[in-house]
Amino acid sequence: MTQRYELHDLIRTDNFIDGKWVPAASGKRFAVTDPATGDVIAQVADSGPTDARAATDAAARAFPVWRDTLPKDRADVLHRWHALILGHADTLGRLISLEQGKPFAEGRGEVMYGASYVAWFANEATRIYGDIIPQQQRGKSMSAVKEPVGIVAAITPWNFPLAMIARKIAPALAAGCTVVGKPAEDTPLTAFALILLAHEAGVPAGALNLISASRDNAPASVKDWLDDSRVRKITFTGSTPVGKYLARESAGTLKKLSLELGGNAPFIVFDDADLDAAVSGLMASKFRNGGQTCVSPNRVYVQASVYDQFADLLAKRVAALKVAPATDPDAQIGPMINARAVEKIERHVFDAIERGAQVLTGGNRLTERGPNYYAPTVLAGATPDMHLSCEETFGPVVPLFRFDDEEQAIRAANDTPFGLATYFYSQDLRRIDRVSRLLEAGLVGINEGALSSEAAPFGGVKESGYGREGSKYGLDDYLSIKYRCQGNLA
Ligand code: ADP
Repeated sequence: MTQRYELHDLIRTDNFIDGKWVPAASGKRFAVTDPATGDVIAQVADSGPTDARAATDAAARAFPVWRDTLPKDRADVLHRWHALILGHADTLGRLISLEQGKPFAEGRGEVMYGASYVAWFANEATRIYGDIIPQQQRGKSMSAVKEPVGIVAAITPWNFPLAMIARKIAPALAAGCTVVGKPAEDTPLTAFALILLAHEAGVPAGALNLISASRDNAPASVKDWLDDSRVRKITFTGSTPVGKYLARESAGTLKKLSLELGGNAPFIVFDDADLDAAVSGLMASKFRNGGQTCVSPNRVYVQASVYDQFADLLAKRVAALKVAPATDPDAQIGPMINARAVEKIERHVFDAIERGAQVLTGGNRLTERGPNYYAPTVLAGATPDMHLSCEETFGPVVPLFRFDDEEQAIRAANDTPFGLATYFYSQDLRRIDRVSRLLEAGLVGINEGALSSEAAPFGGVKESGYGREGSKYGLDDYLSIKYRCQGNLA
């Protein structure tokens, strides 16, 4: 397929409501910047409650039509959207790199990853089966059918500006829901580009609406959706405090919720592990997106007898990572998203050093590269009293904790309010079975650092949230079950 849009054609700065690009009612705008340089890329709509309400009004009008559109016709629209995304993979990848900072190869990889959810849910749209319930009484027939929940509000983070919103919008539309959405203030441009392609693919006016808002105005915009009884579901990926706030504030209208929140992923290396494989797995899962992912290992536990060897192998690989802007074809780690993010990393590393950690490599900002760069870092001698053991660092920092036995490792891994991803490396089959049962998490990587797939259920337990994205389970979050009982048949 030929590419229709160049990068500058894909950059939209207004809200998309009822099939039209419209400025915020207030006329206000805020700046989106390139994290590599701090330069302003665009001034986008700074929306408020009036814009949020207009989006809901449009979604409410479109709902009966989209709900009653045949599943195969909804699937066709999603398949066309998928083809358009793939047809613009390079351009979208560049746009992601521009506003989010990740290397181009990762930006393009994210496009393919996000697109895979669109294709997956296009197919799932035609497989929303119900049940005929075996007869319980003569003359009565009972069945269960699945229906779209209604208007869905999607609120997304900046770390995967395309994939996070694609994997919410695609199942919502597949289920027959209509959508109002707000991307993160750092990265609205990719989301708008994606919506432009969705509209071109045939998503009808009003079925998909997107507004942008600055950090200051986001809460008031979203609050309008939380209070509006027409919005039946919130799907959110972001931090745990904001997730809890959304759950509390939406309770007044009892909405269905999917919350994909923070993690504090442990990565355990047992003494029977293939150490080279473990180092490679850790490199892949830790340094993707500069460590700014919610499944990124945050605490690495290594058994005492292999600790020094593992630390040595790892530090060599980490020291060789190339830190550069996305425009450098060899870049492996880009800038962090913003100053707030770098300050948090810096705080965690200072605190760890103060409490006795040793820097094996990195441990400093790279101010000569630009405002938001931090060196990939390995810290030995990490202990549970350090901030980085309790909070997500969300950056390229690996703290190494030492443990003696399996029980101690599991206890430490589970000693967190979070439960999203966990990883462990071992070649002992009995241990694999035992440890994978005992880890408290939604995702377990066993001798594997890359878990995500559109075919697999993604989501957490404990304070990492609830709901699942992707897989055959992913549509359930957007559906409700209606029981139908027909009597007087005999
Ligand atoms: P991060 O700290 O990584 O930016 P957040 O959870 O703060 O993660 O942000 C994730 C998403 O939630 C973003 O789209 C952001 O604008 C939005 N958000 C942040 N605070 C609020 C709030 N109080 N109400 C509604 N949305 C919010």
